[in-house]
Amino acid sequence: VPVVAVVGRPNVGKSTLVNRILGRRQAVVENQPGVTRDRVAYDATWAGRRFTIVDTGGWAPDAKDRAAAIAAQAEIAVATADLVLYVVEATVGATDVDDAAVPMLRRGGRPVLVVANKADNPALEAEASTLWSLGLGEPYPVSALHGRGTGDMLDALLDALPEPAPPEQFDQEQPAGPRRVALVGRPNVGKSSLLNRLARTPRAVVDSAAGTTVDPVDSLVEIGGETWQLVDTAGLRRRVGQASGTEYYASLRTSGAIDAAEVAVVLLDASEPITEQDQRILSMVTEAGRALVLAFNKWDLVDEDRRYQLAREIDRELRRIPWAPRLNLSALTGRAVDKLAPALRGALASWEQRIPTGQLNQWVTALTQATPHPVRRGKAPRVLFATQAGVCPPRFVLFTTGPLDAAYLRFVERKLREEFGFEGSPVEVAVRARE
Ligand code: GDP
Repeated sequence: VPVVAVVGRPNVGKSTLVNRILGRRQAVVENQPGVTRDRVAYDATWAGRRFTIVDTGGWAPDAKDRAAAIAAQAEIAVATADLVLYVVEATVGATDVDDAAVPMLRRGGRPVLVVANKADNPALEAEASTLWSLGLGEPYPVSALHGRGTGDMLDALLDALPEPAPPEQFDQEQPAGPRRVALVGRPNVGKSSLLNRLARTPRAVVDSAAGTTVDPVDSLVEIGGETWQLVDTAGLRRRVGQASGTEYYASLRTSGAIDAAEVAVVLLDASEPITEQDQRILSMVTEAGRALVLAFNKWDLVDEDRRYQLAREIDRELRRIPWAPRLNLSALTGRAVDKLAPALRGALASWEQRIPTGQLNQWVTALTQATPHPVRRGKAPRVLFATQAGVCPPRFVLFTTGPLDAAYLRFVERKLREEFGFEGSPVEVAVRARE
């Protein structure tokens, strides 16, 4: 989603303009002098196109004077946004503040629209043409308060935005039909047994030939009152998995199933130590960015001692994926098999979760104010704003004034999960730093 930054002196009507662009859906709280506003970025839509609109008001807290502050905002905006709205007052025209900011905007190589706000009547509208002198192209006279001219300005904004990227594989609405699940794990953990147990439940649908588009190697199975598509279970059904060979082949097959699925159930043998092969399968799932449910099978074999051991193993071996839900089940006795469907639904909901930009930024602002990045070489990089770049799995971008320490990034990700959940889904947090 492209980012549009709004730059300009205080009181030129930036908040009013942002409110006008958002419609009444999410009101921007008015700036109070000396108070850092709690939200900085919002989701906006015009003519069916989405973009993120960012208010740069609080971006230069240590600037010497007003002109330096606006210049710094302009510089950061040019470095982080795809387009800059430079707001001036039609009633005032260009000022000395503009002399400091405009060279930055002109050099930045980003499209800039000059918005002459408070053009409430035709006379003021005509006066806006003097702003050609800024050398930033055609000025757009608008009245943010009354809505005059904002439609034309937004049309021009869309024209100047970079082409939208082609939608990603999973970013679109899911195709209708059953959700796709990969049932994976190393040989002998009990995949076939679990599949058989699931297919035994009343009204199980295991016939994929009957006029469905489901791949013949897949199984349709009813779990928890819902039909799921278990991908590439042919080997499990025919029990040729082990016979047909090399670990290499099995691993290819596993990775293919994970890619074809939306969510993976990784089966582990609770009665045995977690192995390297288990780890490799887990990495396949997280690297493919699929939702994940961990199932410790053969729970019927687990006694007190083993339970204690397993808890320590989990702490040690599954440290990377504390967010994956864990089920202790038994394909043999049927224990906890009914927990599978709710776990799958929860993981998929996390995988598709989208946090509204306003809410995300309110959170990120509060977090980074409470716990700022440690000082590095005399400076502490600041997080200016954040956007969610995608779903399936959720991907976030932090826009910052400099690179972040890996530890700080992990801290942000941990807090993000504490705030918004995402149980059962990987989450990516990337940084776009102004150099
Ligand atoms: P796969 O290679 O992952 O498909 O594993 P299988 O389903 O073939 O199971 C391997 C072995 O573990 C078989 O002997 C099963 O009977 C046994 N097994 C599977 N699930 C359980 C379970 O929950 N408890 C116990 N005790 N044995 C199980």
